[in-house]
Amino acid sequence: MYRALVRVLKAYRFRLEPSPAEARGLARVAGCCRFVFNRALALERQRFERGEKHLGYAALCKELTSWRRAPATAFLAEAPTHPLQQALKDLDRAYRNFFEGRAERPRFKKKGRHDAFRYPDPKQFQVDDGHGRVKFPKLGWLRYRRSRAVSGTPKQLTLSREGGHWFVAIQTECELSAPVHPASSAVGVDLGVAKFAALSTGETFAPVSSLLKHAKKLARAQRALSRKVKYSRNWRKQKARIERLHTKVARIRHDFLHKTSTTISKTHAMVVLEDLSVRSMSRSARGTVDAPGRHVRAKAGLNRSILDQGWGEFRRQVEYKQTWRGGLVLVVDPRNTSRTCPACGHVSAENRKTQAVFLCVRCGHAADADVNAARNILAAGHAVIACGERVQQGPSMKQEPAVSEAAA
Ligand SMILES: [Zn+2]
Repeated sequence: MYRALVRVLKAYRFRLEPSPAEARGLARVAGCCRFVFNRALALERQRFERGEKHLGYAALCKELTSWRRAPATAFLAEAPTHPLQQALKDLDRAYRNFFEGRAERPRFKKKGRHDAFRYPDPKQFQVDDGHGRVKFPKLGWLRYRRSRAVSGTPKQLTLSREGGHWFVAIQTECELSAPVHPASSAVGVDLGVAKFAALSTGETFAPVSSLLKHAKKLARAQRALSRKVKYSRNWRKQKARIERLHTKVARIRHDFLHKTSTTISKTHAMVVLEDLSVRSMSRSARGTVDAPGRHVRAKAGLNRSILDQGWGEFRRQVEYKQTWRGGLVLVVDPRNTSRTCPACGHVSAENRKTQAVFLCVRCGHAADADVNAARNILAAGHAVIACGERVQQGPSMKQEPAVSEAAA
């Protein structure tokens, strides 16, 4: 049998254990990257105001060279070149997203927010997996908490600070022969708010509303912050507390999504999902200036729990996990999946009298509303396969994943 080779990218994330001096070194590089980003952004804005041409990455790299030579910014010469260039690349990408209407105008980076930098070239760093350490130019060897072995060839390295700790993400690449999924079953998945996921098999996954649970706590902590004198000792302490809270929420959600997507991907060769555009849903709730959304408040709450539960991230995870296992993800049109009777085919909004119960007004078929929707989604998936309807397949092999978390 012919089996193709697939290129698989993986990412491993470990907590670094820098000495105080090493942590200062990391912060210094992150600071230089932020400086370069902000300075380049200021330059582009200035040029824009004067009606001059946008510079872009290559021209900014030339500017960077002159900044490294200038006496006033000589400290940049102390920092490794590649991460500084990557900061310019980030700005370039942010501008491209802005020009193409995908994002807002790039903004200045603030100190202490998203401190990160990366080495894109394996020649610039070394990974000593056996001893759990990584080496960079000008920083030397740094130890990390080795919670698992790193497989594949390291391609890129990202260092970031989160909740007061430094982390290293090692992205690797390896070639595998295309796998064949061990299961042969297919499943429809209905994503919701009351239940995070209902499967056509009848199985359901309760949501993790970590953000909602922590929202009050966070709001209180933020109010406390506003009462403190900015940049005072207590203000900094409170700021760190808030950041830790955010990190905790993110970790709970991350774990939940990975457990759920792994369970589903392991058990079923074909997973059918609805094409829920989380983004457009969040956007429509805000409404426009002329016609503010009618149910803005209710929708805002719903959207918060959508974002809280990470449907978009869940779909991304299921897609790459299926790709690894040789499974398939189908994305189908969500219209009528919640109001179609699987027994007689009658379609009516009346069929779903309450959030939880499905009751067909024509034939009397009754079922759990979410499981019922999952069955319709599965049927739609089978229809796609049978008659070759338009189908959106998941992305190919280019995603990072298997993130190993060494924190805690
Ligand atoms: Zn019916």
